[in-house]
Amino acid sequence: NSVFSHVVRGPEDPILGVTVAYNKDPSPVKLNLGVGAYRTEEGKPLVLNVVRKAELLLVNDRSRVKEYLPITGLAEFNKLSAKLMFGANCPAIQENRVTTVQCLSGTGSLRVGAEFLAKHYLQRTIYIPQPTWGNHPKIFTLAGLSVKTYRYYDPATRGLNFQGLVEDLSSASSGAIVLLHACAHNPTGVDPTFQQWEQIRKLMRSKGLMPFFDSAYQGFASGNLDADAQPVRMFVADGGELLLAQSYAKNMGLYGERIGALSIVCKTADVAARVESQLKLVIRPMYSNPPIHGASIVAAILKNRDLYNEWTIELKAMADRIISMRQKLFEALRARGTPGDWSHIVKQIGMFTFTGTKL
Ligand code: PMP
Repeated sequence: NSVFSHVVRGPEDPILGVTVAYNKDPSPVKLNLGVGAYRTEEGKPLVLNVVRKAELLLVNDRSRVKEYLPITGLAEFNKLSAKLMFGANCPAIQENRVTTVQCLSGTGSLRVGAEFLAKHYLQRTIYIPQPTWGNHPKIFTLAGLSVKTYRYYDPATRGLNFQGLVEDLSSASSGAIVLLHACAHNPTGVDPTFQQWEQIRKLMRSKGLMPFFDSAYQGFASGNLDADAQPVRMFVADGGELLLAQSYAKNMGLYGERIGALSIVCKTADVAARVESQLKLVIRPMYSNPPIHGASIVAAILKNRDLYNEWTIELKAMADRIISMRQKLFEALRARGTPGDWSHIVKQIGMFTFTGTKL
C-alpha cells in the first residue's frame, strides 16, 4: 500500500488544462483559444527571425561557456531590461535606484517580488483586479500575501469600471500593494486611458499604495515598446517606489525559455543595494540561479542596434496582425447580422478578447 494512497487527484490548471483537452481532441478543425500564445496564419507557433539570428550568434561564439550565472542572473540582461521599460534617460536608473534581477519569466518575477514583499514590506495585503490572470491569486497567496480584489471590468459596458476602481483603491488600507497590468490587461483587453492612469497614480501615491506592475505584453498592445511602457514610466517619473515584473514570453516569443526580470525602484541607491541583497536570499534557496540561454538571447538582441530594430519590426507585425484579426472578427459578426453590439472586440487591446457572451 502506497504511503501516498490518500493523495487525491488535483484539478487541471484551468488555462493549461484547455491545452491538454485540445491535444486529446481528434477534430481537424479545432482551435485552442485557451493559452495566450501567438499563432501564425497557419495556426503554428512563431519563432522570430531575430531570435534565430541571435541564437546563431550565441552558438558560433566559442568563448561562451555554460557556467552558472550569479544568483541575480546575467548582469547585462538586467541592465538592458530595466532600460527597455524605464527608458534610456530614466533618472532612477542613472541614480542607481533600481535593482533588477533575472527571473523565470513573468511568473517567476511575480513570485520573487511577492516573496520579498511578504518578508520585508509593511503591508501583507495585495489588491488584484477583478478579473485578472488566473495565476495571480495563487502566486500571491502562496508567497504569503493576503489577496483582495478591486473592481476593474464592467460587463454592462464591456469596458473599464473606472469609478469602481477608484472607489476600491480609495478605501484600501494605506500602504497596501496594488497589482496593475502595465498594458493589454489579461483577460479583458481593457486598459485605462493615459488620463485615467494619471488619476490612478495620484490616488495611489496620495494613499501610499505600492504599485506592483505586471508587464507581460510590452510592445504587444500598440506595437510600440515606448507607448506600452508609458503607464509604468509615469509612476517612475514621480520619484516614488514600485515593483515591476517583466516577461519576454510574448514580445520576443520566448515562452519556453522562461526569461523575465523583476525590478524594484527605490528612493536611494543605498536602499536599492540592500533590497538586492535580500532578493538574493529569496532566490538562492528557491532555484539558486536562473538559466542562461534566454537571457543571452534577449541581451544579444537588446544590445545590438540592428537586431533591436529588426525585433521592433517583427513585434509590430505581430501586434498589427492581432489588431487586424479583431477587425476581421468584428466585420464577420456584423456581416452575419449577429445580434448585439460587438464594438468591444475592436476596442479591446492585446491578444485577449472578452467576447461578452455568456456560456
Ligand atoms: N502576467 C500576465 C498578465 C500574463 O498574461 C502572463 C502570461 N499568460 C504572465 C504574467 C506570465 O507569463 P510567463 O510566466 O510565461 O512570462
